[in-house]
Amino acid sequence: MPCELKPRFLVLYGSQKGQAQSIAEGIADEAEERGLFADICCLSEGHKVKLSKTKYSPVVFVVSTTGDGDPPDTAQKFVKRIKKKTLPRDLYAHLCYAFLALGDTNYADFCKCGKTIDSRLLDLGAKHFYATGHADDGVGLELVLDPWLEGLWEAIRGALSKMAAPQPERDATDNTGTALKLDSSGQTGAPPAVVEASLTRSLPPLSELALNIPALPPPYLDVMLQEATIEEETNAPVSKETLHEVPISRAVQLTRDDSVKTALLIEIDISSHPMAYQPGDSLDVLCPNRASEVGELLRRLGLEDQKSNRIQLSLRKETKKKTAQIPSYIPENSTLHYLLTWSLEIRTVPKKAFLRSLVECTGDSGEKRRLQELCSKQGSADYNLYVRDHNLGLLDLLTAFPACQPPLSLLIEHLPKLQPRPYSAASSSLRHPGRLHFVFNIIEFPACAGRPVGRRGLCTGWLSDLVDPILVLATADHVHVCVRQNCSFRLPSDLSKPFIMIGPGTGVAPFIGFLQQREKEREENPEVEFSETWLFFGCRHRDRDFLFREELQGFVANGTLTHLKVSFSRDTPEGTETQTETGPRYVQHNLLSHAKDIVNLLLKENGYLYVCGDAKNMAKDVNDTLIEMVSAELQLDKLDAMKRLAGLREEKRYLQDIWS
Ligand code: NAP
Repeated sequence: MPCELKPRFLVLYGSQKGQAQSIAEGIADEAEERGLFADICCLSEGHKVKLSKTKYSPVVFVVSTTGDGDPPDTAQKFVKRIKKKTLPRDLYAHLCYAFLALGDTNYADFCKCGKTIDSRLLDLGAKHFYATGHADDGVGLELVLDPWLEGLWEAIRGALSKMAAPQPERDATDNTGTALKLDSSGQTGAPPAVVEASLTRSLPPLSELALNIPALPPPYLDVMLQEATIEEETNAPVSKETLHEVPISRAVQLTRDDSVKTALLIEIDISSHPMAYQPGDSLDVLCPNRASEVGELLRRLGLEDQKSNRIQLSLRKETKKKTAQIPSYIPENSTLHYLLTWSLEIRTVPKKAFLRSLVECTGDSGEKRRLQELCSKQGSADYNLYVRDHNLGLLDLLTAFPACQPPLSLLIEHLPKLQPRPYSAASSSLRHPGRLHFVFNIIEFPACAGRPVGRRGLCTGWLSDLVDPILVLATADHVHVCVRQNCSFRLPSDLSKPFIMIGPGTGVAPFIGFLQQREKEREENPEVEFSETWLFFGCRHRDRDFLFREELQGFVANGTLTHLKVSFSRDTPEGTETQTETGPRYVQHNLLSHAKDIVNLLLKENGYLYVCGDAKNMAKDVNDTLIEMVSAELQLDKLDAMKRLAGLREEKRYLQDIWS
């Protein structure tokens, strides 16, 4: 049927890193296969479709949230527009829509952008034709995404057939009519988790089930490998406007050799590059995929002999994927070796759609079946347990499924762009002109089912190999970097405002920059009365991983830091059985011991609170402790204490730079 005769709907997306966009594109592509027609548009271009007068009804929104509950860049203008108080209450009365909000419960304000748009659309008269889904990247988007998508098609057909008389709101239901739970709390009507299986072997009962597997993503790329006529480009894909090649001028190991984790500080020389930065900013570091992994992948693909050949990409003529395009981040004329080294994130955890495509790439029936299970609805628990939670990458899967032989085109279609890794600046350019410091723990992924040998994190492993000779011989090497501003994580501009910093482990990095800057400001403004500064730091052992110990004690000695509170989570001095007998274990235990002072500084003296570090546990526990402290000190119930902290966030006086 020609597209203009097919029932038509609109998909609108707001995306930051491409997840919402790729889900929206998936919906548009699947529409075609289901005999429907979907137009697709980014919210940044939303003005072009004139939602207030649109001929489309229904509309499907897919919108992510970024940072501290902020709209993605592409949705910012749209959010601003629909928040205007002057808009008529019936502006969208003609519109019926479905909404999928993406977020991450590791961060404050889960799905805030999606929730804001959704409720504003309702305020302005629009109606749901399908229950809103809130998918949580913290536990796996697919827990909500898969059932939401499954129910969407029936709902769209219903909405299309009733366009003249819009339907009252309905809940998404599964095939049995049971209401699906479409929030972040997890499982839907899927059968109980199968946990005793292994990555490659399932239990008989699961194998006997008829599997509910996703549709096969339509392949859309043709790849040709041509013998190269000019020499291979081996350097990083650096464009002068974005990444700069800078020398490493110094590297220091901050932890003792017997520490649980190894932390390194790297100093880069940015004096010959226009890279201004402020404490609070971060540094993006581009690193190549490991040569040994690239070699192994070439071997598994059977393409070792062609690694120096040039890649030519074209769209398949018969492609059904409407949104198909050649990835813009793959430079023209790159060789196969270059592509696998600098362009594709080969370690990424394969999504279920990728696993679905891999099913077609193995001739072994056992492998086929297990791959089908892992990408099926019934296999969600196994997928999370064996693939996602262990951070398995493509190579791990190809090792576990030796008969699987994917074509190169599939890798290019499914593997995302290799992204630079961010690290907080751990210095102030006032104290170290022309230099920037950053700090990291070398990440270790232990061996597990599917990964017989442990391995280091991609960038931290690469950096530590790079600086190994520097630590020993003081020779220099280069890295490709760019500064990323974080304008919301800044020292208070008013020098007299007190501030409290909470940063265990490498979360202390930006605060070293803050304190170096404050120290300099004190030297330059001797007449100013500076207010209190507190740092809550936490590590495991006083003698092994107390990062920046001398520098912090120096800040205390010269008055830059008025209170340094350190907790040691694993020290058990003589005469005590456990650490808890000896003192505070974590930063939040130290906070509790100073509850009165902290609450006073924050809520009576208009101070600032900064938290940096692990999002998953630490930031949540610290937030809970703050609620407890405010509630106890101000005699408020929990809800009111939470409101006071929310107020602090609104005023940008409770700031987080947290990482998952
Ligand atoms: P870490 O070494 O794993 O932990 C530091 C201390 O925090 C340890 O004593 C640990 O105790 C304790 N801890 C564990 N659970 C806690 C909880 N729920 N509440 C409070 N303290 C807790 O820290 P790290 O590896 O450096 O990680 C810091 C985080 O900061 C990472 O997520 C990292 O990505 C992020 N970060 C990094 C940078 C950077 O530039 N590299 C900058 C900002 C933030 P036990 O282990 O004894 O339980």
